[in-house]
Amino acid sequence: MADYRSPWMDEELELFRDAARRFVESEILPHDARFREEHHVDRELWNKAGEVGLLCTDIPDRYGGVGGDVRHEAIVVEELGRRGITSLGHSVHSIVAHYLLNYGTEEQKQRWLPRMASGELVGAIAMTEAGAGSDLQAVKTRAHLDDGHYVIKGSKTFISNGYHAGLVAVVAKTDPGQRAKGISIIMVETRDQPGYRVGRLLDKIGQNGWDTAELFFDDVRAPADCLLGGVEGRGFAQLMDDLPYERTLLAIGGVAAMEYALELTVDYARHRKAFGRALLEMQNTRFKLAEVRTWVHIARVFIDDCILKLKDGRLDTVDASMAKWWLTDLQSKVADECLQLFGGYGYMKEYPISQLYVDARVQRIYGGANEVLKEIIARSL
Ligand SMILES: Cc1cc2nc3c(=O)[nH]c(=O)nc-3n(C[C@H](O)[C@H](O)[C@H](O)COP(=O)(O)OP(=O)(O)OC[C@H]3O[C@@H](n4cnc5c(N)ncnc54)[C@H](O)[C@@H]3O)c2cc1C
Repeated sequence: MADYRSPWMDEELELFRDAARRFVESEILPHDARFREEHHVDRELWNKAGEVGLLCTDIPDRYGGVGGDVRHEAIVVEELGRRGITSLGHSVHSIVAHYLLNYGTEEQKQRWLPRMASGELVGAIAMTEAGAGSDLQAVKTRAHLDDGHYVIKGSKTFISNGYHAGLVAVVAKTDPGQRAKGISIIMVETRDQPGYRVGRLLDKIGQNGWDTAELFFDDVRAPADCLLGGVEGRGFAQLMDDLPYERTLLAIGGVAAMEYALELTVDYARHRKAFGRALLEMQNTRFKLAEVRTWVHIARVFIDDCILKLKDGRLDTVDASMAKWWLTDLQSKVADECLQLFGGYGYMKEYPISQLYVDARVQRIYGGANEVLKEIIARSL
């Protein structure tokens, strides 16, 4: 939206945005088709992103982060989304860093955050299992203490960044007799870790440049000081308390993708001719794009409000759930309406609108299925 500037932007952030945009255009875009074919980015991309200060942007500099706030994170997510890039699992990495910042012991922060900020360690969150997705309390992965180590046994699926992950936040039951209160998060460094195995790289219908993997923990031994926060049974509460951050990042990506879809479609409709005139001169196209532009503008104003609230610590779970479900539903709708205006070309992979269409779909499923989020909102009525 050329005539709109987010109220949270300022001159310093414009410079940061320029740097993020340059990085996306030079280091990711030229390779993105290959990343999608290979189902993962090059490992070095993480180190390069760390070098230019695009990782852990809202982590304090005393822990190696950039020392910014959620606005810096929003900018990175937006610059990726505005080029249709879903291959760099930046948001998940940031969420893991946030768990450490918010719940980790001082020693855990010092140990892992600087290495996450440099890209030396890629972060992943391993919650989901074959029998436990939305119902997280049903996880079966177990962790018990043995001679100063947690012994972890179980398997996880659908884990984003799973292929490259150097640090996995593993959600496990330390007290199988309890549901939520029996859950803990254990931070596992994967390198040379006996019993740890990355399984299949999953073949998805979209977001194919982003690695999604199965992970296996066969009596993996993690030192006892890898328990996040140092107290057992806090895992579920830690996951819940950080949801506003996680859901807002997903929603920001959704808005950026919608803005990109609109930009691509207006440009296409202006140049594509049928029946002797541009598509943009036909009333249906004009009305459709007028509707899309209205939706995207409302989406932008809404997400900007969430970003400001999150920055000031005022965004609660209900607000974040509303943003995530509504904006990601809208993202799918916008991608669908825009694709239609491309005709058959919209169905071809070489046209970015086709990728926006398939990449959008999972946004309604992960990060809390949208139906689950509506339950959360409904409980607040
Ligand atoms: C590409 C991708 C990346 C992912 N990345 C990660 C990751 O990094 N880490 C991780 O741990 N997990 C990850 N996931 C898993 C994701 O979080 C789960 O798929 C999601 O939570 C849904 O769980 P499920 O697939 O088991 O579906 P189920 O829990 O079986 O739910 C299926 C459907 O049932 C409905 N439903 C479920 N519960 C309710 C309810 N209470 N009320 C109403 N309707 C309901 C919803 O429509 C839901 O979509 C990823 C998934 C995908 C596809």
